[in-house]
Amino acid sequence: MRARLTMERAIVGFHRDEHGHWVAQLACGHDQHVRHDPPWQNRPWTQTAAGRAGALARLLPCRQCDDGAPPDARP
Ligand SMILES: [Zn+2]
Repeated sequence: MRARLTMERAIVGFHRDEHGHWVAQLACGHDQHVRHDPPWQNRPWTQTAAGRAGALARLLPCRQCDDGAPPDARP
């Protein structure tokens, strides 16, 4: 297995998917789920507008960039 770094991309916005889960929109054009599903995934900051605003410009690793995936469509 080849070691590699995952690209890190800044969060530029958010939307919700059809199930009500929050999705971060990254600067590269890819979307990434940021689920709050305790006790497995704890992201309480996604649950408030202030928390989401505070997460803007935060970096998330983007595997879709690593894979060369085309940008996601946004609602
Ligand atoms: Zn990406």
